[in-house]
Parts: sequence; structure tokens; C-alpha cells
Amino acid sequence: MIRITELALPLDHPQEALRAAILERLGIQDADLLNFTVFKRSYDARKKNSEIKFVYIIDVEARHEDQLLQRFANDTHIRPAPDTNYYPVAQAPAGLTERPVIIGFGPCGLFAALSLAQMGFKPIVLERGKEVRQRTKDTWALWRKKTLTPESNVQYGEGGAGLFSDGKLYSQIKDPKFYGRKVMAEFVRAGAPEEIMYVSKPHIGTFRLTGVVATMREEIKQLGGEVRFEAKVTDILRADNGQIEGVVLDNGEVIHSRHVVLALGHSARDTFRMLHKNGVYIEAKPFAIGFRIEHPQSLIDNARLGKYAGHPELGAADYKLVYHAKNGRAVYSFCMCPGGTVVAATSEPGRVVTNGMSQYSRNERNANAGIVVGITPEQDFPGGPLAGVEFQEQLESKAYELGGRDYCAPGQLVGDFIRGTPSTEFGEVEPSYKPGVKLGDLHPSLPPYVIDAIREALPEFGKQIRGFDRDDAVLTGIETRTSSPVRIKRDHDSLQSINTPGLYPAGEGAGYAGGILSAGVDGIKIAEAVALDMLAQHGKN
Ligand code: FAD
Repeated sequence: MIRITELALPLDHPQEALRAAILERLGIQDADLLNFTVFKRSYDARKKNSEIKFVYIIDVEARHEDQLLQRFANDTHIRPAPDTNYYPVAQAPAGLTERPVIIGFGPCGLFAALSLAQMGFKPIVLERGKEVRQRTKDTWALWRKKTLTPESNVQYGEGGAGLFSDGKLYSQIKDPKFYGRKVMAEFVRAGAPEEIMYVSKPHIGTFRLTGVVATMREEIKQLGGEVRFEAKVTDILRADNGQIEGVVLDNGEVIHSRHVVLALGHSARDTFRMLHKNGVYIEAKPFAIGFRIEHPQSLIDNARLGKYAGHPELGAADYKLVYHAKNGRAVYSFCMCPGGTVVAATSEPGRVVTNGMSQYSRNERNANAGIVVGITPEQDFPGGPLAGVEFQEQLESKAYELGGRDYCAPGQLVGDFIRGTPSTEFGEVEPSYKPGVKLGDLHPSLPPYVIDAIREALPEFGKQIRGFDRDDAVLTGIETRTSSPVRIKRDHDSLQSINTPGLYPAGEGAGYAGGILSAGVDGIKIAEAVALDMLAQHGKN
């Protein structure tokens, strides 16, 4: 197979133009082109007012590939295509009695369970929240009726934190083994749109993701796995030498296993505390805090795509912004959701925290993103492994108070925020956060160094996206769960906890992923490590 990169075609090109462009690029006859697939399709809109084109990476099967590769030996855009297929590393032996346990059924736990099930290791998944349909009802109850269900919400339940999301499926991680392709391929097999395999910034959107997750759960079960909801792990069995021996559920049930995957997500604060109490090594790690900002999506489209704004092939535009403030803090946009909504994302009573989500169509009126400031344990929350957790809790409780103690979020218009005056009335931008935004002054909601850095950054962002700092853009507070405040440290090679053999810290909560795709990739890596260790242990018995 041959890979052609940087093949550019106009946005509105007809389907056949791609074949013609490949023939021309390789200088071959139609009969010699046996097959081709689009590996990636992106567009470059950085140069304003110049023509936006699709840029393709194409994998081609052709006659006489060796000769062709020789002919183009000096052409860096025509190369042998890498093998991106996934090959399982193990197969469970007959007679294996031990079953791996996976705590958490977010993207990390889901892919760990699916991969283990596909290799024949019948995993037991324990998820504290509810299955996807009931969970959806519970989550909407907070947004519509201000009723929070602490064990079934945006953070907890089938599909994990990624379920009510924009479903963005891209990440900056290095992925030499193409695990990310497996994540995408499994999503497509379970009903996600095929285009996620090749568009450069794929996304699924909330409603589609719920169906996909339920289909994958059924496959795990068909392969002999077990997926248990409302099964919260409240304790672990840890031997004197640290070896994990099992877990305890909140109903007292004990499940024995010497292979336990911790795919908890970043919000399982009670479970972090339980692990720390049991002696599992945990350390504090940096994360970021700030607000959600909302603008009309048309403002972002016009700034980003110029005359192509609204082009059906391009969809709603996104952005990524970074600014280094004078006080040394980095301010950046986080989890930008084009054409989406800001959501109430708390899992705890008496706390307010925001995040963003969208549907596949991304056709809501507003664009939203976190505007956040990086903070570190050394500088901002010294005091031990769980100090970041406590810091988040304090801030989210304060936000609850400022929002009026009913899960409404505190908010302020950008103009007032920069001038330092409380807001009393919305302008043209209507905030999308449900159950509602209480206008006022956001300054008491976050530490002064964060407020100062964001105040300085917004006008700078306005220079990159005209109107970004418009007076009536809305800031909604607060954004605190940008990533995990802890790292549950694991050994680089075995992927097991550095002081608890058999325990596999994984995904976002353990500090090894940030986002759906990277959490899924980490789940696959962990499944491989568990499978190989189980095989090795079985061989010894
Ligand atoms: P999680 O998805 O958090 O899953 C952890 C699971 O473990 C949860 O279901 C939880 O209930 C369960 N659990 C915790 N403790 C226990 C216990 N003691 N016993 C049993 N079960 C337990 N990322 C993107 O890449 N793109 C996006 O567009 C995007 N949008 C987002 C929008 C929102 C509203 C939110 C909240 C997050 C978004 N994210 C997005 C982030 C993404 O969801 C996470 O990075 C990802 O879900 C992390 O996966 P995970 O499996 O590591 O953890």
C-alpha cells in the first residue's frame, strides 16, 4: 500500500475528482489503481481570505507498487503506508479462572473491558452510576429541575464523563501503535458516523454517543464480560506486600482479583480518598481553573472561515487560544464546543462546576469554551496528595453560593468583568447553561492571580478573534474539572501502581489521559498489560 500526503482539492470537488487526482499524482492509468481509502481529510483556514482547500492523506493499492515507490523515492509525499491495523497481544488460555476487574465505565474502562473481552479474558466492570438511559434522565433532571442525583449525573454512569460532551475525538498524544485507530474503528462498528475515521477533527456528539456506548456494552457481555451498574467500589483488599487482592462494593460484596483496573475519572474524590487511606501511592498534579465563555457561533465562523463561514462541508468553526499573562500564568482555551451548550457538570450536592457539550449537528446558537489558567501544587495548592481535590471542592462550593444555592451558575459579561463592575443584564448573547446563570461579579469566585490573568488575556484574544472580548459575551463560572488533580502513579513498563502490584491506574482520573480518545487509548494499553500479566501468572501456576 502506498500513502500519498498533501493532496489538495477544492472544497466543493465532486467525488470522482479524488480518483482523478490520485491517477494524476502517481502518473498511472485507471486500470492500475486497484483501491484507495481516505486516511485523513483536513483543511487549512489559517490564511484569511485565501482559498480554503481540503488536504487529503490517501492510502492507495495499485499495481506495481514497488516500482511506483522507487519512481517517487525522492518525493516525501509518496511513501509506503504504515500498517495501522490492530493486532491483539494475547488470547486467554482455556481454564483461566481469574477475572480482571475494571472500576469505571467511561471511555478508559470501556476500551479496557472491550479489549480484554475480545482477547477472551472475561472482565467484570463495576460502575457506580446507572446505565445510559436512566443516567440521561437523571442528568437532565439537574439541568431542568435542579435535582441532582449524586451517583448518576454528568460525571458518573455508563459512558463516563465523555457521554454528555461534544464528543471531540482528537488528541495530541503520541500514538505510534495506532491505538487511536482502534478506538475510532470500534466506535464506527458500534454506530458512530464513518467519517470519524478520516476527518481531521472528528466528533460524535452526545446523542449518538449514548447509542454507541450501549452497543459496545452488549458486545462485552456477549464475549463473556459482565457490566454491573450501581456498583460503587468503596474499599480495596491490599495485602501486606501491597499486592491487590480484590475490591469491596458499597453493599458489602467482595470481589477477588489480582488484576484491578482503576478507570475512575477525575471526579471520584471519595475513591481517591479511599485509595490514599489504603496506602496506594497518589501525588498532587497540576490542572487548570477558570470560566466558560460564550459567543454567537456566527462570530467564530466569520473570524475563522471568512467568506467560507457556514459552508456545509466545514461546519461550525472552532478555535484554540493561548496567552502568557504578565503574572507568569498561562491562559488558554479548553474543550471548545462549536455550536453547543454550557452544562452543569457537578456530581456533588452544594457545588457548581461547568463544562460544555454539543450534538453531532453542532447547530446551537452559541460557541463555548473554557478559558482557564494552569495551576500547580507547588505554587497554588501545597499540602499533600489530595490538596488539589480540596481546592476544587472549596471553589465549587463558593460558586454554588454565588449562583444562589440552587445549581444556577454565577456569571458576568466580559465587558463588566474586564472593567471590574458587576453585571445586571444580559446583552445579545444569551447564556445556554441550565438551570440558569445568575449575573453578578465573578471576581470572588477564583483566586486573584487567575482573575488578573484572564482579564489581561481576553482583550488579547480579541485581537486574534475579532469580537472575542465583546462587552456582552458571557462568562459562566466555574471551570475546575479540566483534568485530574491527582496522579495515581504507575510503573512505566508494567503499568501497575508503583506500590500496589496488580492495580492498574488508568485514564483521566489517574492522570494518564485527558479526553475521550486518549482515555480510550489508555484503556487499550492497560488491557494489553493486564492480559500479558495474567498470561504470565497463569504460566507460573
Ligand atoms: P470517566 O469518563 O470520568 O469515567 C470514569 C467512570 O468511573 C465514571 O463513569 C464513574 O462513575 C466511574 N467511577 C468512579 N469511581 C467509581 C467507583 N468508586 N466505583 C465504580 N465506578 C466508579 N473529552 C473529549 O475528548 N472531547 C470532548 O468533547 C469532551 N467533552 C466533555 C464534556 C463534558 C461535559 C465533560 C464532563 C467532559 C468532557 N470531555 C471531553 C472529557 C472526557 O469526558 C474525559 O476526558 C473522559 O471521559 C475520561 O475518561 P475516563 O474513562 O478516564 O474517565
